[in-house]
Amino acid sequence: MVRPPVREVSVPLPPGATLGVIGGGQLGAMFAMAAKRLGYRVEAIGDSADCPAAHHCDRVHVVSFADAAALARVAAGLDAVTFEFENVPVEAARAMAAVVPCRPAPDVLFTTQDRAREKAFLVRHGFACAPHRIVRSVEDLRAAAVALGLPAVLKTAAFGYDGKGQRRLESESDIDPAWAALGPAECVLEGWVDFDCEISVVAARGGTGDVAVFEPSRNVHARHILDVSSAPANLPAVVLDEARTTASRILAALDVVGVTCVEFFVTRAGTLLVNEIAPRPHNSGHLTIAACATSQFEQQARALSGLPLGSTRQLAPAAMANLLGECWAGGEPDWSAALAVPGVSLMLYGKSDPRPGRKMGHLTALAPTVEEAIANVTRARSLACRS
Ligand code: AMP
Repeated sequence: MVRPPVREVSVPLPPGATLGVIGGGQLGAMFAMAAKRLGYRVEAIGDSADCPAAHHCDRVHVVSFADAAALARVAAGLDAVTFEFENVPVEAARAMAAVVPCRPAPDVLFTTQDRAREKAFLVRHGFACAPHRIVRSVEDLRAAAVALGLPAVLKTAAFGYDGKGQRRLESESDIDPAWAALGPAECVLEGWVDFDCEISVVAARGGTGDVAVFEPSRNVHARHILDVSSAPANLPAVVLDEARTTASRILAALDVVGVTCVEFFVTRAGTLLVNEIAPRPHNSGHLTIAACATSQFEQQARALSGLPLGSTRQLAPAAMANLLGECWAGGEPDWSAALAVPGVSLMLYGKSDPRPGRKMGHLTALAPTVEEAIANVTRARSLACRS
């Protein structure tokens, strides 16, 4: 097939240009808010007209990600396009990238949306990660469990997030049930990392290879879902510097133009292992909205439109607490009580159905110390979620 050339666009895109975002969740919504402040039109491409991004975009295209012709038609009306989650089928991004610049490039999505490919990338480039084996059958899984030892964690290679598609293996008797639950899809078995803590680094890379790195944040998960992120992470400077350097090198090795988050395990010996790469703004970077000179979403808009990246300077210690559907169990949460806590701000995603485990919004607290910020944001959340 002869493809039309990708349309040339002026750089930076002027106000009034139209930015597309594939996906319509809260990350697309927060991108739209930031991009519209810079004067851009924003159009989301999603599977529902009532997605969170719809409340902030100029237009939502409800298009099947399998319909390449329809995606190409939408792309023809855009000046640049990005994506807001990595489970977008790479073919959908490629269909749009054939018509309009897509940043990050679909190849970045291809590498990072599959744990097996992502691990191969990390190993190829010498980035340390957890010991692992690719598993395609129960026999592979038995051999991998022997090679890595137990406990270990089995993860589907594709379409996992927030702990979905994961099973912890404690003993040999867990092997068959874990494979019955996750196989026959390709999986990765990872050795269990007895980590001291988890941190993540959000960074942006522009079209000329310039990189701007945010302060690493310390992340605490509950039931595999991010619960609280805080920055600064209060770790030795040498560990934080290595995290920043590794993240920058990963963005360069992937040739990312846009925002990417690199999640790390910090081992008890103080070494870093890359856990996951997300080629988009990340939940652990939401505190940049309230706490930094430029938010991760504004960086995404700047990188996409060819504007200079902004300062990542953090203006105050900060902590962010996720609001999951459980918070609505006793009815509408008490936002007045939460917002009466000093330095606390609220972001709700406009989702109508507060299912357990669903990310409905988040609270951020700024305070003179990160310990106070964590204490205030968790107190605000317990005041709000009163059931
Ligand atoms: P993931 O979806 O891979 O980021 O996993 C979600 C969370 O599960 C991580 O943030 C960790 O808290 C935990 N986890 C995942 N893999 C491992 C591992 N190999 N060792 C210890 N904990 C893990």
